Amino acid sequence: MGRVYNFSAGPAVLPEEVLREAAEEMMDYKGSGMSVMEMSHRSKWFDDIIKEAEKDLRDLMKIPDNYKVLFLQGGASQQFAAIPMNLMKNGVADYIVTGQWAKKAYQEAQKYGKANKIASSEDRTFAYIPDCSDLPISEDADYVYICENNTIYGTKFKELPNTKGKTLVADVSSCFLSEPVDVEKYGIIYGGVQKNVGPAGVVISIIREDLITDDVLEGTPTMLKFKTQADKDSLYNTPPCYGIYICGKVFKWLKKQGGLEAIKERNEKKAALLYDFLDQSKMFKGTVDKKDRSLMNVPFVTGDKDLDARFVKEAEAAGFVNLKGHRSVGGMRASIYNAMPIEGVEKLVAFMKDFEEKNS
Ligand SMILES: *Cc1c(COP(=O)(O)O)cnc(C)c1O
Repeated sequence: MGRVYNFSAGPAVLPEEVLREAAEEMMDYKGSGMSVMEMSHRSKWFDDIIKEAEKDLRDLMKIPDNYKVLFLQGGASQQFAAIPMNLMKNGVADYIVTGQWAKKAYQEAQKYGKANKIASSEDRTFAYIPDCSDLPISEDADYVYICENNTIYGTKFKELPNTKGKTLVADVSSCFLSEPVDVEKYGIIYGGVQKNVGPAGVVISIIREDLITDDVLEGTPTMLKFKTQADKDSLYNTPPCYGIYICGKVFKWLKKQGGLEAIKERNEKKAALLYDFLDQSKMFKGTVDKKDRSLMNVPFVTGDKDLDARFVKEAEAAGFVNLKGHRSVGGMRASIYNAMPIEGVEKLVAFMKDFEEKNS
C-alpha cells in the first residue's frame, strides 16, 4: 500500500523525510538502545532534543530573546482558558470572531471575565475577515484575540488588526510556520501542532516575557499558569516527548527547504494552482472572499450536495483523501499544508478538471 495524497485539515500530512527518519531511529535512538518514546524526559538525549527544537524554531521564526517558547499539552482548546486566566488582569478582553475556533475561545473567556465580541463575520458563515483597522477596542482590554487562519472556513488575516496598543494574542494552529511572521507584533502566538508542524498532543506557545507572571486569576491550575511552564523550560512535568521530537525534525526539514520565506513562496504557488482553477471552473467554486483566502485551507463546493459527495468518493478512490468539507460549510476542503507536495495539488487539479469534463 503506497502513500496517499492526504488533504486532511488535521491531524495532517507530515514530510515523508521526517517519517522515514523517525522510523529509522525507532528502535535505537542515536545509540541509546531505545526509542525516544521510551526514554526519560530528564535524560541527556531528550534534553538535547527539546533544546535543539527550541533553537531551530527560534531561528526559523526569528523569535526575539524577550519571548519564551513553551511546549505544552491540552491542545489549542486548553489555551482558550489558559489565556484569560493568565492575562486578564483587568478582567476584560476583546475578541474578533472569524470562525468556530475564535468563537469557542470567546465563549471560554466569558467564564473568566468580560469578553467582548468587537467584530464578527458570522453573518456570512465566516466567509470573510472583517475590516479591523478601526475597531472599538476596549480602553481596559487586557488583550485583543484573533484566530489568524480559520481552518474550517479557509480565511486568513492578511493584515493584523489595529489593536490600538493592546496586546495581540493569536491562535495560529493552521498557519504555523507557513510563512514568516513578525513575532514582535504579538503578545502571544500559539497553536496546536497537528495541523502544520507535528503530531497531535503538542501545543507551542510563544509568549512575551512580561505576560508571564504570578499575577494570574485565582484558582488557575498550576499546570495552566504560564510561569510554571516557563520557569521549568516546559519540563515541569512529563512533556509530550515524542511529539516534540517529531516537531524538532519538522523544524530541521523546514530549514532545509530554505526557511519560512522559501516555504511561503511554495505555499503561494500551491494555493494559486487550486484557486486559479476554481476561478475559471464552471462546476467548482471557492467559498470565501478572494482577498481573505487562506494559503492552507481551501474550501470549495459544486452547489449540488450529491455531486459533492460523488466527487469526494471518486477522489478518494483515486488516492486523494480527506477532501470532505467541514459539516458547517459542506462541500469540499483541501488542506494544503507545508508537507503537501506541489505534485499533490497539481494532480488534484487535474483530477478536478477531468471530473468536471466527465460530469458536464
Ligand atoms: C484545530 C484547531 C484548534 C483546536 O485544536 P485542538 O488541539 O484540537 O484543541 C484550534 N484552533 C484552530 C485554528 C484549529 O485549527
